[in-house]
Amino acid sequence: MSHNIEREQPIIVWFRDDFRLQDNPAFDAAVKTGQLIIPVFTLEPKNRWSYGEASKLWLGATLRQLNSDLKVRGSYLVCLKGEPNTLLQFLIEKTNARSIYWNRRYDPSGVSVDKAIFSNLKSRCDIKSFEGRLLSEPTTLKSGGGTPYKVFTPFYKMCLKVGFDIAVSSPPDRIMSPSLLNLGDSLESILPQPQLQWQKVLIKQWSIGERAALKKLDTFISGTLQQYSEGRDFPGRGHISFLSPHLRFGEISIRRVWYEIQCAVELAPQLTACAEAWGRQLFWRDFAYSVLFHFPYTSEKPLRGESNDYLWLDDEGGFISWTQGKTGFPIIDAGMRELWATGFMHNRVRMLVASFLCKHLGVHWLKGAEWFWNTLVDADLASNTFGWQWSAGCGADAAPYFRIFNPVTQSKKFDPEGVYIKRWIPELRHLTSKTIHEPGNEGYMQPIVELSVGRSAALARYARSKC
Ligand SMILES: Cc1cc2nc3c(=O)[nH]c(=O)nc-3n(C[C@H](O)[C@H](O)[C@H](O)COP(=O)(O)OP(=O)(O)OC[C@H]3O[C@@H](n4cnc5c(N)ncnc54)[C@H](O)[C@@H]3O)c2cc1C
Repeated sequence: MSHNIEREQPIIVWFRDDFRLQDNPAFDAAVKTGQLIIPVFTLEPKNRWSYGEASKLWLGATLRQLNSDLKVRGSYLVCLKGEPNTLLQFLIEKTNARSIYWNRRYDPSGVSVDKAIFSNLKSRCDIKSFEGRLLSEPTTLKSGGGTPYKVFTPFYKMCLKVGFDIAVSSPPDRIMSPSLLNLGDSLESILPQPQLQWQKVLIKQWSIGERAALKKLDTFISGTLQQYSEGRDFPGRGHISFLSPHLRFGEISIRRVWYEIQCAVELAPQLTACAEAWGRQLFWRDFAYSVLFHFPYTSEKPLRGESNDYLWLDDEGGFISWTQGKTGFPIIDAGMRELWATGFMHNRVRMLVASFLCKHLGVHWLKGAEWFWNTLVDADLASNTFGWQWSAGCGADAAPYFRIFNPVTQSKKFDPEGVYIKRWIPELRHLTSKTIHEPGNEGYMQPIVELSVGRSAALARYARSKC
């Protein structure tokens, strides 16, 4: 079917971290108009926090999936590389589009790009932005004093009080788009298929895309959700959802997730406590976004503790051992090896490895955040920054500086049988659950730091900085 795009004035739907056709407010609104739709993705020029190495792999795979979901509906994804401002102007000229729809983003770079595009193009086309990423909109939530929240519990209570709309939608069977315009680059040229062995191994472990995300939610709700409250802190058990990369890339709508959980509780009220515990985690994500949105400098500088530079030591050797999972502390090494092999790490272990790096080794939280940024498939500027500042004791609602996780006692508590350690460190599989947590076992590398020494030194540094 061919269309006269001169007359039809199509709508550009600009996909950015919302790679789904279901429950996608910007896309839904465009479909409702009955106009032709031009789905677009732009790979923006590199900036400080452009996609990391692992998330770039995920991005390529999810875009391929989105493109094929569009193709079966008669449409396609226009992929472009460069400054979005220039690219969108070019598209408007070529296609006679009169509207651009997108879902809002909240990271400092995204916010400033979107503001610039809005002021440049608003006279030439109708630009509409939608809420498609969070449960709560950071712009609307303020504490009693009129300032942004810095503590989670009042933020959470306010979110529940204010509530949010949930519009559940399905994509249409056909999506009317202008006939192929030969615009754009091929996806393969801007995001090539994985070439290196580690890339291939890593990406093979995940099912990527909207259908996979919905299936994972379904499996979680009908399976491990009922063990979440009790099991979520035990990395060996897998009683978590593993949804973070899907949420990161917007393959599933967070509001749809919330809706499905409420439906599950209605059908099975015994799930209430676990569903509440899990739902609360979703609001930690919102909270992290709210902090980054209101305090954009936090991606580089701590929210609290003006100048705490002298907290940090220059322990390059320690940092490298940490990245390689060779610190000599089994739970730390297991976490870092899980990260390298899968692009994921369990939340409890993320807290332990981050605390170990910042406190026992005295390495700057930003170095850890950068390593995570490159290796996590769910690398997300809001949650990653938040998690690192929390661990380093200089963020919103952060762990107090004197809370220094002891990796051995934490390991005994949360991986009592050593299941997680044995999964990632084969050379320790012969050890008993009594000995496996300790550093210094025969045949394993020696610990790179004496825990009591690292702890005392950290306390002394933190006391000086009054962080
Ligand atoms: C140092 C550090 C760095 C982190 N970096 C990231 C990151 O880059 N991207 C990321 O998505 N999460 C990050 N987290 C948060 C958390 O570890 C992951 O979201 C979680 O492990 C993902 O597993 P899951 O999907 O099975 O979570 P579940 O336990 O099933 O929770 C459901 C969802 O809630 C959200 N969530 C859960 N815990 C948190 C949390 N503490 N903060 C924010 N959101 C949360 C996630 O979207 C998660 O998918 C980090 C935490 C720490 C301590």
